[in-house]
Amino acid sequence: MDLQLNGKTAFVSGSTQGIGLAIARSLAKEGASVILNGRSENKVNEAVARLQQAIPGAAISGIAADFSKAEDVKVLLEKLPEIDILVNNAGIFEPKPFTDITDEEWFKFFEVNVMSGVRLSRHFLPKMLAKNWGRIIFISSESAVNIPEEMIHYGTTKTAQLGVSRGLAELTKGTDVTVNTVMPGPTKSEGVADFVKQLGAANNQSFEEAEKDFFKTARPTSLLQRFASVEEIANLVTYVASPLSSGTNGSALKVDGGVAKFII
Ligand code: NAD
Repeated sequence: MDLQLNGKTAFVSGSTQGIGLAIARSLAKEGASVILNGRSENKVNEAVARLQQAIPGAAISGIAADFSKAEDVKVLLEKLPEIDILVNNAGIFEPKPFTDITDEEWFKFFEVNVMSGVRLSRHFLPKMLAKNWGRIIFISSESAVNIPEEMIHYGTTKTAQLGVSRGLAELTKGTDVTVNTVMPGPTKSEGVADFVKQLGAANNQSFEEAEKDFFKTARPTSLLQRFASVEEIANLVTYVASPLSSGTNGSALKVDGGVAKFII
């Protein structure tokens, strides 16, 4: 299948590792020019070099910006060229008891997980509407509809993304611009792999043992009963980014291994 991504330019926020890097890799493999992003210049340069090596001839560049700092985002928006595809992927998570989460932490989670996408979309949606083509994709989570009791602040930001995404889709009526959300389930990104390794180490377990335990106790409804690979998430995002997905707008698409137990 030709995904018709040749000649398109994409920006993927938070793409120096994990799901974001896999999305960037997949879009680049399909012929899109891709702009990477992360907090530090070093990590961005490393990720750009890694992708350029993996996909010879691909047009990969990068811009460092920290989405917890509004000033960084302002500078980023000044540096970014016109784009066709915006993937709002940058996100943070941290298990913490509800009573220990401070106001500052709540606001930081909203700043990084929600306002990053709001600020980027506010900048790019009007431009996409003006040229009558564009894709905005929010990377939310099944946690948006299945709020994890061990990180209520995280789950709440993921629910907020669903609202922003659907609201923005309403603004695209009658155009070839689409705004959708992809909802991954437990996925073996670097961030999550580190978290599971730590869990395992605390209980004298290997990664595989900790993974098995995690699905037995924390995510028993998973039909996959393992972490998804980052590529499994990137495959769906790449399709949604493609002109071929033109019939899908205002949707929240699950790629959660069946964790969320409802049908739609
Ligand atoms: P990760 O921790 O492996 O990678 C996160 C990326 O975001 C990194 O490139 C990091 O540099 C960047 N980032 C973090 N804070 C940033 C900031 N302040 N400014 C700029 N960049 C920043 O994470 P991941 O697991 O790949 O998650 C990516 C997205 O997928 C997140 O939005 C997350 O909520 C969502 N998600 C992940 C899972 C999972 O199980 N891994 C499940 C559902 C949804």
